[in-house]
Formats: sequence, C-alpha cells, structure tokens
Amino acid sequence: MNAEKFNNNQLYGLLPSDAEGMKTLTELSLNMRWSWNHVADELWQQLDYDLWKITHNPWIILQSVSRDKLEKLLNDKDFRNKMNDLVKIKDYSNTTPAWFQQNHSNSALKCIAYFSMEYMLSEALPIYVGGLGNVAGDQLKSASDLGVPVVAVGLLYQQGYFRQKIDKEGNQQAMFPFTDPGQLPITPLRLPNGEWLRLKINLAGHTVWLRTWEVQVGRIKLYLLDSNDVVNLPEYREITSEIYGGGVEMRIKQEILLGIGGWKLLQALDIHPEVCHMNEGHAAFLTLERACSFMKENKIPFEAALAVTRAGNLFTTHTAVAAGFDHFSPSLMWKFFGNYAKNELGIEFDNMMALGRANPFDTSEYFNMAYLAIRGSGAVNGVSHLHGKVSKSLFNILFPRQPISEIPIGSVTNGVHMPSWDSSFADKVWTDACGKNRWKGGLETLEEDIHKIKDETLWQMRNDGRNELVNFIRDRFEAQSDVADQSPEFIENAKHVFNPNTLTLGFARRFVPYKRPDLLLHDEERFVRILTNNEHPVQLVIAGKASPFDESGKALIRTWIQFIQKYNLYNHIVLLSDYDVLLTRHLVQGADVWVNTPRRPWEASGTSGMKVLVNGGINLSELDGWWAEAYTPEVGWALGDGKEHGEDLAWDAKEAEDLYDLLENQIIPDFYNRNEKDIPEKWINKMRKSMAILTPSFSANRAVREYTENYYLPAADNYNKRAAEKGAAGMKIMNTHQELLQKWNQIQFSEVHTEDKDNGHLFQVQVKLNGLNPEFVSVELYANGINSDAPVKIKMDHVSGVNDQYEYVANTDGSRPVSDYTARVIPNYENVSVPLEDNLILWQH
Ligand SMILES: *Cc1c(COP(=O)(O)O)cnc(C)c1O
Repeated sequence: MNAEKFNNNQLYGLLPSDAEGMKTLTELSLNMRWSWNHVADELWQQLDYDLWKITHNPWIILQSVSRDKLEKLLNDKDFRNKMNDLVKIKDYSNTTPAWFQQNHSNSALKCIAYFSMEYMLSEALPIYVGGLGNVAGDQLKSASDLGVPVVAVGLLYQQGYFRQKIDKEGNQQAMFPFTDPGQLPITPLRLPNGEWLRLKINLAGHTVWLRTWEVQVGRIKLYLLDSNDVVNLPEYREITSEIYGGGVEMRIKQEILLGIGGWKLLQALDIHPEVCHMNEGHAAFLTLERACSFMKENKIPFEAALAVTRAGNLFTTHTAVAAGFDHFSPSLMWKFFGNYAKNELGIEFDNMMALGRANPFDTSEYFNMAYLAIRGSGAVNGVSHLHGKVSKSLFNILFPRQPISEIPIGSVTNGVHMPSWDSSFADKVWTDACGKNRWKGGLETLEEDIHKIKDETLWQMRNDGRNELVNFIRDRFEAQSDVADQSPEFIENAKHVFNPNTLTLGFARRFVPYKRPDLLLHDEERFVRILTNNEHPVQLVIAGKASPFDESGKALIRTWIQFIQKYNLYNHIVLLSDYDVLLTRHLVQGADVWVNTPRRPWEASGTSGMKVLVNGGINLSELDGWWAEAYTPEVGWALGDGKEHGEDLAWDAKEAEDLYDLLENQIIPDFYNRNEKDIPEKWINKMRKSMAILTPSFSANRAVREYTENYYLPAADNYNKRAAEKGAAGMKIMNTHQELLQKWNQIQFSEVHTEDKDNGHLFQVQVKLNGLNPEFVSVELYANGINSDAPVKIKMDHVSGVNDQYEYVANTDGSRPVSDYTARVIPNYENVSVPLEDNLILWQH
C-alpha cells in the first residue's frame, strides 16, 4: 500500500511533516492490526497516554499530536524500536505464506466476499451492536492471520449503536452521539485516478448515492458504504445513521444498501468473488443482485443465473427464534422491488416474492430474508451444534415431507480472535509456552504446551488480571458516579470499591429476558450472604445495554441498581454502564468466573464466555450454545440439565438454587482453598484444562479454517463449474428442475417386494417415472436414525426399465427390520444439493 496517499486522502489531513518515519507511522495508524497487538499499545501510548487510553484510536492521536513531539519521538531509539517491531510484524505477515497459502494455494478459491450489517473490530470504529458484529470482526482478524483471501463489506453508521448512561435510580438513558468519519481509522475509497468512488443505487425509483470507505484489518480490506452524502436528499442521508435504527422501512433500505450496494461496490472495484458469505440474512438481497449480474453478463434467464451463483453463496444463520428473522410486507416489497423484479431480474414480482415465502402461492405472506438467503445459497449453517439442530426445526417449513434430520443446515461453532482478547500478561505467558505464531496455523500442539506452564505462573496471571480489573472498575465507577450526580462521598467511595484478592464474577450481556440477567437475584438474602461472607467474599461486575424500546430490559437494569442500594452492596457489585469492546476487554481479562444464564436453546452460540478462556477465566454457564458442546466437569461448571424448559418459572427457580449451590459448595471453596504456596490447586487445574482444551477449539482460527475447508473451498469449485461456458450448468439445472416439477406428481411406486437374503433383505421396487429420464432421480431406501444417529440411506441400483416402468434393487444388512425402511424418489442431477436446491420428494407411501 502506498502510504503517501493517506496524507492527501483524509478529511482531516495530518500536520505536514517531512520527518523520516512519518509515512510508516501513518500506515500503522490506519491498519487495525493495532487492535490485537500489545506492542502497539506501548507505541501509541507513548505519543499520547490519555488519548490512547480513552479512544484506542491511533489515527486521532496522529491528528492531534504536535509536530515537535512527533519528531522528537521519531528520533527516540526506544520508540523507533517499537515502531520497527510493528513494521516487521506487518511485513512478515504480508510476505510470508500463511496457513491458506501453505495448504490451499492451488485451489479454485481466490476471493471470499463477507457481508455483515455490523463489525466489532475495536471501540475506535463503532459500527457494531453485539454478538453478530463480534463474530464478523473476529473472523476477519483470523482470516488475516491465516491468509484466507477475504474482502468484507459493511455499512458506516454516523451514530452507530446507542451509548448508555445509567442514572442514580437505575434508569437507562440512551444517547446517540455522532461519529466524525474524519476521525475514524478509515480512508475514502479512491479509484486509481484519485476519484472518490461514489456508487449509485436505485431506491424505489429514486437515485441514492453511496460514499465508499476502506478499512485495513491486517491484510484484509473491509469496505464500508454510507449514504450521508451532501448530494443526497435529506431522507436518504439518514439511512446509515443508526445501526438497526428506525422502523421497518429504514431496515429494508439499510439491507438494500448492504446487499445490492455491496455487490455493486465489488463490481465497481473489479472484484469477482467465487464465494459470498452472508453473516445473517440482512445481506440476502445480494443473492438477487449477484444473479442479476451473472444473468446480464451471460444473457441467460434469471433462474438459470441464480442456479449458478447460489452455488457460491453461503448463509450463516444466527438466531434461535423464528421471530428473529427480518420480514417485510408485500406492499413494502412492492415499493422497493416492484420495478426491480421486472426491469432488472426480468421476472414477475410474485416469482421474486416466492423466494422469500414458505408458501410461494400465498400472496399475503411476508417476505422473509432468511428464506431468501436459503433459496439463494448452496450451503447454510448455524453457529453451534445445538443451534444447527434448532435451525433445522426453524426452517423445516421450507422442506415439506423431509425428515427433520435432513433439513440441510450444518453448523460451524463460533470462535473468538484470541489475540484481540488476551491481556498483555496472558500474551506473555502464552508466547513463552506456545510461541509467537500460535494463532496463525493449526493448533495441534497448544494443549500439550499449556500443560507445561507452572502453577505459579498461571496463578500470577490470574491475580494480575483481577488486579487490573479492580483498578479499572474503580476508575470507571468513579467517573460514572460523577455523571450520575452522586454525592461527593459516594464518588470518593467509588474509588475504593472491590478487593483485588476477592473471587470475581463477570456477567455482561444484553439485558433481554431470555438471558435471565436476574436469575442471581432469585433469593436475595441467600445471594447477599454469599457475596458478603467475611472469610470467603465474592464480588460481581455487571454490564449490559437494554434496547431503548424494551421496557422489561430496562426494568432489569433498575432491579440490579435497586438491589445494590437496598443491601448496600457497593463493595461487592458494580454495574458498569456503556458495555462496549473496551469494557469487554477489561472484564474478560480480569474475571475469575464468567457467568451466563440464558434460557436454553435461545443462546445460538454466545461468544463472551470464549473470551475469558485465553485469560484463564472459567465458565459457569447454562448448557446452551457453545457451552453445550464445550462443557465437561474438568473445564468448568454447568447449569441446567441439557433440556429445554421454555419459560417455566419453577424451573428458573430450580436453576437459581443450583447456581447458589454451585457457588457455595464448589466454586467458592475451590477458589479459597490454598496450598502452602497460597495457590488454589483445584482451581488451577480447572483453569489449566479450560485454557488447554477449550481455547484452541473456540478460537476464530478454528472457525475460519472450518469455514474455509468445509464451505468456501467446495463452494468455489462448485461455482466455477456452474459458471463455466456462460452458465451452461445453470441452464441445465433450470430446465431439469422445471421438467421434474411438471412430472413429479405423476411418479408412482407400483410394486415393492422384499425377501430374505444373506442374513439381510433384498428390496425390489418398481417405479413409474412418468416419462422422466431416470438419470435425473435417485431411488433410495430410507430408515430413521436410532437415538441421535444419522438416518440410514441406501441408494438402490437401477436394473431395468421397460415402458416407463423401472426396477430398482438394494440389499440391507439385516441390522434393521424390513418395516424400518421406506423407499423414496429424490432429485439427482447436475450435482445440485438436495434438498436445499431441489426439495421434491416422493415416499413409497
Ligand atoms: C462479546 C460481546 C458480545 C457477545 O457476547 P454474548 O456472549 O453473545 O452475549 C456482545 N457485546 C459485546 C460488547 C461483546 O464484547
């Protein structure tokens, strides 16, 4: 990258400086690699300690610092060494073949375009709300570590998500300060001739211009779009104000910007990804626009183009409730897509609507973005094993007559980018044990390496983390009490709350009822006794926002504040306001135990608990999301029985009691029971196991490698095959599908005959195919899986065919009785993914 261009490129340029090193510093400031490198902390903090601590934004520091100071530091040996270290790390990672280059350089996969409504990369770029953005941001960073060729697309919001203030009485106030793009670590996206790229899109017949921006994330580029351009009418300038802001019409506009604008952006940059990855259904309009481009380029019908391009689309679903999917009324869709369907896609509006409907013939049904994403993708996945299963039920409706186990939704369990969440102390411990490049390749040796670390070192790391957190809490609580107009005594006391030696629980999440943020308050008196025990006290730090429209969520925050007041628990509980990445980092680095109490199965994955792993924090969580697959007694503590209980209040009460029991009988004794070196051995064992076993498995490194090998690589191959010869395969798929549709209802099983053979059974089946070419179908024997095993599917051999009567035979091994098997006919042509791309099915009875 040419650093020179930055100087002329910014809304606010830098002070002109000829100092040697200035270009390098500028380039470092605009690469968000600083968000996961502790050497960067030391460098930027030397330029301006306070600004760095508050903003973690080197670009602001460079804009602000005086020329004298800059030049002085650039001549300082220590500063130069740190700077050179960072340059070396950057050069190394830009020139050394990474995991992807070492393992898959000859593959068909050249580019993956990642689409997400939010990205959580750093508090310096506030374009995120929570978990979804966390997954997107951490996966980008890991893709950079691994050299996976991703480009990302998102929106730049002027106000982002609301900022939270909590008043004396515990009322949440929402504030929406504006971010100034000139102060963000981003650059305008300029074409080679210097022109700032502006994109034109059509919104219900009106032209809207989008500004374009570029964010450097290690070796990966994230492109952002925003509509706050003076050339636009005021109503359009607001589209990218608040993330998920406004009503349903605002939402559809934002999603058009992301999906359609995002695809147009890639076209304008001459970027032609084989694979598009949709992080949640928000970006699903992309499937239409991508097919539309292919259709126009190759002059084939829309349906054939979609058959080509969907092979290269992957949809990751993140919610565990049907109400979580965006859906739009037919009239709203008509407003924005009436002309688009006809003029751009060349299809009837109702046919386009059918892509987002469970029942294509019900013209009153709303248009569901997740349904469109499924119809427009060659693969779909949930974000934990359990969520994959839950998603099969949620999308069952799109696959009538299919057994639930065959609903085509897989899973890739989320992971977090460990270098972004580790403390500098933990970083040193891990580096000593596992080396500097530990998160850049396979992770096979980490477990063994962690087992070699001394107990003393681990305990020192834990104490250091807790101590840092207590200092941070005191600072924040003091500042927060000040803005909440507390008394001078109160503010003075805030500086001394908590104790660095006390067992510290962390609990941070959105305040929504399904997360049960009040579960710990079930028996107030008992909980107070646990916290305030003289010998073995406990302290709890809480954070989280409630949606500004959610009165029940805001009431939960008030409940906590009033509880603290009522029992005067300031020394044992602090609720910190304005949960964001900065706060998360401190909490996950300092907490001994991370508590999570969702109602199963509504936490699709959860990621905050994964962030404590690298820092030696231990999880105490409901068996839901990732913890349902991570938990064993040696790595943490579990709540619940691994079953669903809905909103049963009696069950909530039981789990609350179990939670207190766990604290009293296991967690607190394990923490305070010390050996002669003052080390809690049992605790350290658990902590070490959690670090060794769970950290690799729940890292974004593992998740991105899984996405690459299980999804991106096959998708790229498949897309290339279908795209060849102007989408010839797409034409065949379209034609075959239409023929199947016409003839399917007349297919018949005419005779099924079974006999005993070789300890098993011989099945003979006669099928009338109604004139269909037998090469387009498979006939199978199917038996449901026993317990949670996969179903048994046996492909039958086609032995003869006369007069449209075809005979198929298969042998079974006798492990299951004849009556367990049912014969069925399913589509089988052109490598389409069945039933995802073609859900026709005929059962023998
Ligand atoms: C990690 C994180 C989340 C997501 O955590 P969950 O476990 O899904 O609740 C949300 N918000 C912030 C600020 C985070 O850092």
